[in-house]
Amino acid sequence: MSADPSKSQTAGPLAVAIVGAGPSGFYAAAALLKALPGVEIDIIEALPTPYGLIRGGVAPDHQSTKGVSRAFARTARDPRVRFHGNVELDRDVSLAELRAAYDAVVLAIGMARDRDLEIPGAGLAGVFGAASFVGWYNGHPDFRDLDPNLDTSAACVIGNGNVAIDVARVLLKTAEEMADSDLADHAAGAIRAAPLRDVYLIGRRGPVQAKFTNKELTEMGTLADCAAVVDPAQLPDEVSGEMPARDRRLAEKNLATLKGFAAGAPDDGPDNGPDAGKTKRVHFVFYAKPDAVLGEGRCTALRLERTRIEDGRAVGTGEFFEVPCGLVVPAIGYSMAPVAGLTLDAASGAIANRDGRIDPGLYVVGWAGRGPSGVIGTNKAGGDRIAELIQADFPQDGVRSSGGKPGRAALEQLLTERGLRRVGFADWERIDTAEVAAAPSGAPRRKLSRIADMLAILD
Ligand code: NAP
Repeated sequence: MSADPSKSQTAGPLAVAIVGAGPSGFYAAAALLKALPGVEIDIIEALPTPYGLIRGGVAPDHQSTKGVSRAFARTARDPRVRFHGNVELDRDVSLAELRAAYDAVVLAIGMARDRDLEIPGAGLAGVFGAASFVGWYNGHPDFRDLDPNLDTSAACVIGNGNVAIDVARVLLKTAEEMADSDLADHAAGAIRAAPLRDVYLIGRRGPVQAKFTNKELTEMGTLADCAAVVDPAQLPDEVSGEMPARDRRLAEKNLATLKGFAAGAPDDGPDNGPDAGKTKRVHFVFYAKPDAVLGEGRCTALRLERTRIEDGRAVGTGEFFEVPCGLVVPAIGYSMAPVAGLTLDAASGAIANRDGRIDPGLYVVGWAGRGPSGVIGTNKAGGDRIAELIQADFPQDGVRSSGGKPGRAALEQLLTERGLRRVGFADWERIDTAEVAAAPSGAPRRKLSRIADMLAILD
């Protein structure tokens, strides 16, 4: 960076860089604007598009969850904020350069990788971690060419969290049910053409330990052409054992919902009641630990080991069974790539930090700081906390008297020197307008999923 950050600057705004334009980055920006009115914030984002998981992770048929992006857009339009899209940490600018240029750097980079499914056969064709599979159907440019072969009648989705349920639901909804979604065109075509009939949701523990929120689980019983199937023998009479009251309430609701599925759609076929005539099924399979993906070159079955629960953990019983399937999607959580110079916490897989602070001047928020848990709104409290920390470390209401760093000017000089093409927020708004204008009837937008196509809108 050619601007010398060691040179004292005159009075000016506290210069903050937020890396990552997902929910945690935007909540942090909003909290900082409120707590430190004199601040100047640069939001640096690898993609030309903002909003992170709102665009690339939240299910395409859950549009109401995406509504929060309107508040994020207001933050981005604040005169104190500048969005620098198409600029990637490490590829285009290093953390050391950002730290030299900004008084404070906030890492809001999420967790972009799948946690590894460490069983034989996990590398076979037909096995796609949820990060890539969800990215593919959500039109994330990194996964545009994933091209999963969906020419199979059965799929296994491993995990009992909301991501697993999202994947199952997107595979099982009819084209009509997805008409008001922003499912990417390439995925819509592939899913519509797939002969998929059975999707197995595999939990290594039991229904009481499942992490589905009840709204998401209940939705699985309302699908137009899919019956929810669960073996009543796997459902306990009631929720027992020690657990926090909140977990107990969730477990009780989920158990009641699953009992409803068991009563409405017996395992020998959804042939009566509201499920009569439905051609697809989602099977909730509990107490089943993945043992191996089977197949020669490509997956043809998932082998599972029956489990029992001991001290809350799934313990194998030595009894194995196989589910024939041509697609396996492990949705078992996320991990992150190491960031130069920073340590990852062994337990959470996130960047080691103390309540959000890595060092004075360097902070982390969202999944990158706590691990892959919580819903979008969980990040609001994290953003507030980062603002408190920065306020404590720079107690001048966001206006530094002297000795501060150059901030935006240095970043923009560097981007120019490197010939990088920055996408500003007004540019994104043009891409957004083009996507909305191209939307099929009833849909919110037709997503562009290649960066070149996004940039072409701006040319
Ligand atoms: P999650 O809720 O932590 O669920 C992960 C699941 O994977 C658990 O059932 C876990 O089982 C299982 N698992 C982990 N390792 C495994 C292994 N080696 N073999 C078999 N199963 C394994 O994570 P997530 O579904 O990825 O969701 C991440 C966060 O995003 C969650 O907080 C979620 O609620 C949130 N989210 C929310 C929504 C929504 O609100 N609609 C949508 C999507 C995501 P154990 O419990 O036994 O470890």
